[in-house]
Order: sequence, then structure tokens, then C-alpha cells
Amino acid sequence: MRLLQARHLFLRLANSIGATSLVARSDWRRHRLVILCYHGISLDDEHQWNPELYMPAAQFRDRMRRLREARYNVLPLSDAVERLYEGNLPPKSVAVTFDDGYYDFHAQALPVLREFDIPATNFVATFYSNFVRPVFDPASAYLLWKGRARGVITLGAVIPGAASMPIVTAEERTQVWRQLREHAFRERLSAQEKDELLADLAMALGIDYQAWTATRMLQQMRESELRALPSDLVDVQLHTHRHRMPDDRALFMREIADNRESLDAMVTSGEPRAHFCYPLGNHDMQSVRWLAEMDVRSATTSDPDICTPADHPLLLPRFTDTTLQPDEVFDGWVSGFYPRLRWSPSLRELRRRRRTVSPPVAEPTAARPLRATLSDVVAR
Ligand SMILES: [Zn+2]
Repeated sequence: MRLLQARHLFLRLANSIGATSLVARSDWRRHRLVILCYHGISLDDEHQWNPELYMPAAQFRDRMRRLREARYNVLPLSDAVERLYEGNLPPKSVAVTFDDGYYDFHAQALPVLREFDIPATNFVATFYSNFVRPVFDPASAYLLWKGRARGVITLGAVIPGAASMPIVTAEERTQVWRQLREHAFRERLSAQEKDELLADLAMALGIDYQAWTATRMLQQMRESELRALPSDLVDVQLHTHRHRMPDDRALFMREIADNRESLDAMVTSGEPRAHFCYPLGNHDMQSVRWLAEMDVRSATTSDPDICTPADHPLLLPRFTDTTLQPDEVFDGWVSGFYPRLRWSPSLRELRRRRRTVSPPVAEPTAARPLRATLSDVVAR
């Protein structure tokens, strides 16, 4: 904790003496791209439940304002990735991405993106798109948090035969949450049955489930909302159909194909969808090969770093911005100052891995087109 505070102090100092903006304007930064990752923008109190997943709308607006005021060039992800490998990024390049396609993106993020004219890519898992109910895993965790003041849950009212359990601490709630997930998995519950389980859970916690679902919290955008996203601002891309990464090749391919097909049926796209985000950031070299076979041109992870042309295009790092990051950390990341320092051994290790698996692309003068890079991957 003390080390973290020392870093924040150091970053504030770097900001105040102009070191951050010096790096932002440097030739080093010119050949690099920062991809920002967001999950959700709160409709209500979601950031109090999970500040790493949800950000208050006012804070998100402030982040976008900072990008504009410091004159960052925010590019659509597809352009940004293309130009990263062509070696012609504009100065201070940033791309903004959102994961999962939740309704709060439509309600909270979109007006801010429009206000500052900032393009964004949303990676949408499509399984829930035509089933407008809360997504089971996060919804069950949220409801347990929301009802924590009861102290104990009569779990037998939700899972037959289960004992009552305390829900005061985060650890206690996680225990209950795991039981709910295991029950749903064991009983092979359908989406409809999982929704009924959530209703039972809400009732056991004294929460009005109908009123809560009417807020659309932790629900995905429905077809009409996806369709209504302005194409000049929002690009909808791949995130698997069921938000999972099967080890089996045929199942993996089906995830991508189903996701593509569902999105194509709902949102027209000028080009075939070719940008992917790993669900939960899970990736390995097997999935990289399979994505290349599926004509996926870029894939983003949750590894924290700045992208360079030496990085494998199917292993692009991102900076996940959260409620807990102070402004100086955000500024430190988008400027390039923070990743430039390479102070974390784990960050250095991830960087080495991304590049050793990568077909080498000389930066930036001899940079090869992205297509060539990808056919090399497929051939390997
Ligand atoms: Zn996701």
C-alpha cells in the first residue's frame, strides 16, 4: 500500500514538472498506442459494489474530458491497430474499448462519448442479447451485496436443502455466490431457470426483483439498442457468443461464428467483424492460432501495457481504467510515462511473452502490413 502511494506521489510529481507530457509528445510514444478498457458505467450504485468493474458516470466523463483537453488522438480501434502496424499513428494515440455490451453503455457511456466525439469499440457477447434479463454471474453477486445488511441469507429458500449462511463480508458473499453458480451448473439450468433463481435470491434478500430488473442493471443491450448505436461513434465487435473460451477447437470456432452471426443479424457492419476481446482476458497460443484461422485481425487482452508494433496483433495489451485509479495514474498511462518506466517485473515478463510469440515486425519504417503478419501466424 505504501509502495502504491509512493508511486502515485511520484506520478503527481512527474505531472507537475512536465515529465508526463514530455513522454506523451516523444517519438517513443508516437509509435505506440494506448488501448483503454472499460466495463460498465454505473446506472446507480454498481461502482460501490464493484469499483473495478463499474465507474460512476461523472468520473467517466472527467476521463474523456481529460483526453480531449490534453489533445489525445482518440482513434477507432480498427484504424488505430492498422496504423500501429503501418507505422503511421498520429501523436498521442488512444483507442477506447468497452467489454460485454451492457445496457449501461447505451444509457451512460454513449452520451459522454457523443459529447466529446470520442469513438469507441464495444466487444459484445451475444447470448443474452435476445433475453433481456440480468446476466446471472454478476447479477447474483450484486444482489448478495445489495442485501448484505440482512446479515444472513436463508439459502434453503433458493437452493433446496442448503444451510443459511452469513453475507456480511465480501468473503462470505463469495462463498454463497460460488454455491449459487455450482448449483446452476450442476442442475444445468437454462437462462430462464437461472432468472427464476435470481428472483428467488432477491426475495430471500428482501429485494423487489421486478423493480430491480426494470432498471436494466447488469442486463445486456437488446437488439433495438444495439441497432440504434451510432455507427460513426461505436463499433460493435467480437467477444464470443457465450462469454467463454472452450479448449475444444470446434466449440471455440462455434463461439466466434455464433457471435459474428448474431451481431451481423442485429447490427450492420461495413466490414466483416475482425476485432476480438478475450472473455475475462483468458488467452493462450492455441486460441491465438484459432482466431487467426477465423480471420480475426486483432485481439485485446487485459494485460496492462502500451501497444507497440512488436506486439503480436492477437495479444494486444490494454490499460483497464477503474474507479480506484487516481487521475495521475490515468494521465501516467495515457501519456506513456507509466509503462515507459517498466517498473513492474510482471509487466516486463508479459511484454517479453507477447513479443517472443510474435512474428517480428520491425518498427516503424519497415513495418509490414497487418495482413502479412497474420498469414505468418496461420502458417506457423
Ligand atoms: Zn467480458
